Amino acid sequence: MPTYEYRGLVLHLPELDQEHWGYFEAARRHQLVVKRCLDCNLLRWEPGPSCPFCASLRWEWAPVSGKGEIYSYQIVYHSVHPGFRDWVPYPIVLVELDEQRGIPTPGYGLRIAANLVDAQFRPEREERVAIGARVQVVFMDLPNGLTLPQFALSGEPPRGRVWRHAG
Ligand SMILES: [Zn+2]
Repeated sequence: MPTYEYRGLVLHLPELDQEHWGYFEAARRHQLVVKRCLDCNLLRWEPGPSCPFCASLRWEWAPVSGKGEIYSYQIVYHSVHPGFRDWVPYPIVLVELDEQRGIPTPGYGLRIAANLVDAQFRPEREERVAIGARVQVVFMDLPNGLTLPQFALSGEPPRGRVWRHAG
């Protein structure tokens, strides 16, 4: 069973873990995948064996563009985990991918939580993080063979209003 270390965290990724293995296997090829329901065809990121829309247990991994925008974010000022103490303050973003916006109902979207990083895979500066800013997936290859999908600002013009907390 492959075991990886990331910033002091021990990650076990059994090949039989269908919830996660395909995600990291695709990441190693620098491809972002999510689950697609084989009955209603909707995409989802969250782990779980059944479709949140139709309860089907049939699904497959489906590649997505990795392009989207920041739907929400949080700045971590105090890291609970010691491995991230040298990262603070760092952003955690909820990215809404371009696929499946407003589907199956308005307000829904295909959203992924990740770190927002710069070109050197360091945490993006707080003042550059904003709701509505365009992002794209980037793949952080760790020396131990694990690859983590993260997001970075893409520099594309935003589709709508860009907003950040004034604080
Ligand atoms: Zn479904």
